[in-house]
Amino acid sequence: MTEGPRSLGLLIVVSGPSGVGKSTVIEKLGHEVDIAFSVSATTRPPRPGEEDGVDYHFVDEERFADMVDRGELLEWARYGGRSYGTPVAPVRELLDRGTDVLLDIENEGAMQVKAAMPEAVTVFILPPSPDALRTRLARRGDTTGADLEARLGVVADQIAHARRHYDWLVVNDDLDQVVAEIVRILAVSRRMQQ
Ligand code: 5GP
Repeated sequence: MTEGPRSLGLLIVVSGPSGVGKSTVIEKLGHEVDIAFSVSATTRPPRPGEEDGVDYHFVDEERFADMVDRGELLEWARYGGRSYGTPVAPVRELLDRGTDVLLDIENEGAMQVKAAMPEAVTVFILPPSPDALRTRLARRGDTTGADLEARLGVVADQIAHARRHYDWLVVNDDLDQVVAEIVRILAVSRRMQQ
């Protein structure tokens, strides 16, 4: 009997507009399924409680540029004036071992991953409604008035783009439900890739 194809892990890319509750969804998903989280490199400074090598690899712009030049990143993008990127070696190693890997990255990077690895499964988290997102952003207290309206406009554009370019869109109106939906997406994708 010949050996069947090597079982490879699934690469899942999760993105969504800021304020949609992406981190909470991903954290809960991590408790429900056996999946590895990729640790990104970033040039932004650590926030209180964040650990180097755990939350991010915190690097300076020079080191980041070096990683880009050496082709060490699967994707990278600028966000909020800082650079963010996914180190490719650990991702490949985990996938080769058959471990599923999740990337929590912004849209531009998500599109680069899909272009480089079409088998990656892209998921975009939607806010339940513009009103719900407005309330969430306003509650954070860092956006008001015209700024808030401008950000909502940006989100509307992001959603229109996501509808065309992502494999799956999930609505975050209930944490348990959205996590269960992503668990189902993982199961379906695994079956489709076998
Ligand atoms: P934060 O600075 O709040 O941790 O992350 C800001 C944004 O950067 C989030 O949308 C996050 O998903 C995204 N991000 C984190 N790591 C990466 C990465 O490696 N590549 C890209 N393209 N985006 C990332």
